Amino acid sequence: MKLTDMVNPAVLTQPVYEPGRPIEDVAREMGLNPKDVIKLASNENPLGSSPKALAAMRAALEQVARYPDGGSLALSEKLAARHAVTREQIVIGNGSNELLELLGHIFLRPGDEAVMGQSAFVVYKLVTLLFGAKPVEVPLDHAFVHDLEAMKSAITARTKLVFLPTPNNPTGTTNDVGQLADWAAGLPDHVVLVVDEAYGEYLDELVDWGPLISAGRKIVVLRTFSKIFGLAGLRVGYGRSTPEMASLLQRVRQPFNVNLVGQAGALAALDDADWVDYCRRENAEGLRQVSSALDTLGLRYLPSWGNFLLVEVGNGRAVFNQLQRQGIIVRPVEIYGLPKWVRITIGKSEENDRLIRRISEGINQSKQ
Ligand SMILES: *Cc1c(COP(=O)(O)O)cnc(C)c1O
Repeated sequence: MKLTDMVNPAVLTQPVYEPGRPIEDVAREMGLNPKDVIKLASNENPLGSSPKALAAMRAALEQVARYPDGGSLALSEKLAARHAVTREQIVIGNGSNELLELLGHIFLRPGDEAVMGQSAFVVYKLVTLLFGAKPVEVPLDHAFVHDLEAMKSAITARTKLVFLPTPNNPTGTTNDVGQLADWAAGLPDHVVLVVDEAYGEYLDELVDWGPLISAGRKIVVLRTFSKIFGLAGLRVGYGRSTPEMASLLQRVRQPFNVNLVGQAGALAALDDADWVDYCRRENAEGLRQVSSALDTLGLRYLPSWGNFLLVEVGNGRAVFNQLQRQGIIVRPVEIYGLPKWVRITIGKSEENDRLIRRISEGINQSKQ
């Protein structure tokens, strides 16, 4: 019997996620010194991790012969206090991506639908397809912002999940806070709203989901330690929701889904508010630096509320290749239906300078 005859059909047609390329990989391929390669491709924190988190993780290494706390209790407790909810309303995941998959386990079966923006974070679509459900992709509006009314209209009796990233990756755009709250409150009772606040700490103003969650609305709000907290390599994210929803997520996760070093690092990172403030300021400065240079070069980009910019370059894949030859890794975004654009993570000031120096050259060469 052929192996493919045995496989769940959704697996055979499952698209493959293309991550930002690792520095070592690109250096080897391009014959460059890894020290000369910069990665502006995965919206990581260019400043690294909080020194307090690093110290806690080094100490935690001594403990790794032991299994981690399976329920990530200390971390859940701390996050509950931070968001003024109970510990029973928090679930920790192996990155927030794991929580997206767990939502698929809980809610999606073949024939079900999930509503999402057309150029929304691609993992929503991947998870939906993996469970044999149908992604219903709603075009963004003219400003590349999630079209809330169109998304609501796309909800049918088969819709189980509605994904709303704020801000969205890769566009960096975000919805008006007041409109978002009203829209969420008006969604039908048979859908679960998944709000993805992966870049939430970069924003000055966020929806207060507390009242809706307390009122028992079916909302899951996701956050991650991968972005401003600078802990992407550890894989820690979390969700907050009603106790009922959280207990479903707890039920379908692996018993030790979050590693011991990750829990220690995340806990300590939460205690380092100064570091987060510093990173937020540096990112704002970097966004100004890169956007004003793009203005000067006459390149179009979308206003971003995250730590990255979506830039229109003509042929995104070709410009990605050209920049890569110069040791600059950015992200092509054809998979988002945006073949003319590349996504560029804001780096350290000198990295941004290097990108700015090379981008026009890359665009010109990509046309030859
Ligand atoms: C980076 C990102 C995530 C984070 O994923 P992790 O699994 O927590 O690393 C989630 N959602 C969006 C929109 C992102 O850009």
